[in-house]
Amino acid sequence: MKIISHPHKIQKFIRNLKLKRKTIGFVPTMGALHQGHISLIRRAKKENDIVVVSIFVNPSQFGPNEDLKKYPRPFFNDIKLCNKEGVNIIFAPKANLIYPKNYLTYINVEKLSDIMCGEHRLAHFRGVTTVVTKLFNIIQPDKVYFGLKDYQQSVIIKKMTADLNFPIKIVTCPTIREKNGLALSSRNAYLSNEDLKKALSISQSLNKAKKLIEYKKSVSKKSIILEIKKVIELNMDKIDYIEIRDADTLEEIKNIIDKKVVIAIAAYIGKTRLIDNIVVNPVR
Ligand code: AMP
Repeated sequence: MKIISHPHKIQKFIRNLKLKRKTIGFVPTMGALHQGHISLIRRAKKENDIVVVSIFVNPSQFGPNEDLKKYPRPFFNDIKLCNKEGVNIIFAPKANLIYPKNYLTYINVEKLSDIMCGEHRLAHFRGVTTVVTKLFNIIQPDKVYFGLKDYQQSVIIKKMTADLNFPIKIVTCPTIREKNGLALSSRNAYLSNEDLKKALSISQSLNKAKKLIEYKKSVSKKSIILEIKKVIELNMDKIDYIEIRDADTLEEIKNIIDKKVVIAIAAYIGKTRLIDNIVVNPVR
């Protein structure tokens, strides 16, 4: 396994692999790898000759009062995990190589970046789409793997890839959860055992909502959101949003749920912001 930190070096290395007609699968991450990331790596291993994992805590996607500084960075453990999974290349650049002094260029997917998480984390998705564009240009992958845990992110990346004509296939992979249903997240490391129990209310309320939508006849968006809100309010310290939107476009839906939707939640325990979602298709 090669560990490369310079964009020019990895570009040169990849150019040689491409000359040998190797296909490149790419898994972008911020490190602190867990089974969610590993599931993306395994899928990429199955579908490509070469797997590249980037480990980069991207400053431009964090707001001024967010957890950029304290974000976990267990780099050596991440290297071990990647090695074990047969990753071929880790790309781990320093921030100043991605954003040198006087950096001025940003990518923004309009509208989609302003709703849901974007409404509460200003400029977050602008930072995500900018770094992902740069990583696409540096690594030139054939396929890139994203988790549905970050549902809005996956919709935005697909839109950007289509709009900017990147010759890349975006592969989305299911959310990996603890046995009890809690979605794995690098930020779970901030939580005490008691917090982790409270956090369970998110996945539990999502599953309950899914059942209600699937088994009742006409279910209204308002009533489902209210049901979820009751449970989340009891357990979490602050709710950013509970939203039900069209699963493909993230557009608003009318009150009666009659198409495939995503239910998405963002809420805090203390200073830790957790997100989760579930896709539901009403049976009619
Ligand atoms: P992150 O390191 O949090 O930026 O995540 C890197 C990639 O891993 C993103 O595509 C995430 O959606 C994905 N990911 C994070 N958590 C999970 C999970 N629990 N299950 C599946 N994918 C995940």
